[in-house]
Amino acid sequence: MIFKCKNCGGNSVYHPEKKRMWCPHCESEDSEELIESGSMENCSNCGAPLEGVNEHTSALKCGHCGSYLILKERVEGEKRADLILPFAITKEQAVAKLKEEFGRRIFTPDTFLSHASLQLMEGSYVPFWLYNYLSRVDYEGRATRVSVSRRGNTEITETSHYHVVRKMEIPFQRIPVDASTRMADDVMDLMEPYEYEALLNFEEKYMSGFEGEVYNFSSQGGEERARQKASRDSEQFLSSTIGGYTTNTTIHKNINLEKEKSSFALLPVWVYKYDFQGKEYLYHVNGQTGKVIGKTPTDNKKGLLYSATVGGLILIACQCINWITGVF
Ligand SMILES: [Zn+2]
Ligand SMILES: [Zn+2]
Repeated sequence: MIFKCKNCGGNSVYHPEKKRMWCPHCESEDSEELIESGSMENCSNCGAPLEGVNEHTSALKCGHCGSYLILKERVEGEKRADLILPFAITKEQAVAKLKEEFGRRIFTPDTFLSHASLQLMEGSYVPFWLYNYLSRVDYEGRATRVSVSRRGNTEITETSHYHVVRKMEIPFQRIPVDASTRMADDVMDLMEPYEYEALLNFEEKYMSGFEGEVYNFSSQGGEERARQKASRDSEQFLSSTIGGYTTNTTIHKNINLEKEKSSFALLPVWVYKYDFQGKEYLYHVNGQTGKVIGKTPTDNKKGLLYSATVGGLILIACQCINWITGVF
């Protein structure tokens, strides 16, 4: 399916800054019409065969005419997302964030921030499972608090004994686990935090202008990681409530996690692939907050050139000092 402009027939896309549909050809707003026809094999605009459609693709850009297409079969039934966090940052803003982050690094290759390379940046909706858990924490321990005081020449050590009991219920909402196998887990963890208050009920229009994927595995598949996060945070919360003792011995500790709900959500990421000296570097910009993830590619030649220049300068500076002080 494709969103077409009723005025000019162009491809209407979702504009992150205007927060509405927009036609880049005639600049009209909210003039879109959803054309539901189309197949997984051919572009619904120009008919060219679609390249790069895999078992998870839900939205993509036609390599021939540049239209953004949404694959109907991948946004219906069980594959339909519950929630979507629409892009809030435009491509221009994402590019500016990258330039801000890497622009001043002197060994960065010249082509890295060139207009031509950055034009290849694409926005992509990454599939996530969001889990709600109720964590029941049951803790019992023995603790002491030791205080030392002095009366004349006598040192008095006073030990107080405590029976520490904690029973808590901690509700966890929307623990995120990315459901895309091609996205590295550590990258997606670094993309955090997203502001989940901005999540909306899924609608196709938010996907127009971007690429997208459905979940690569079921909600059970991501539970292990969600449980680990919930357990770790429960432990941290428990520890924060039993501080201030000199010693503390656990008698028993039980953290029980009850899953309440899981939702399938799509979160926005700008992806920039950069090829340099036969290696592919990947950069990600959080499509909502603008946070940048990625390591600087280093141009070794530029580094050498730079040290040669600095070396030369030092040599000249030394000679000048020697000349002033009269030592050769
Ligand atoms: Zn138009
Ligand atoms: Zn096309």
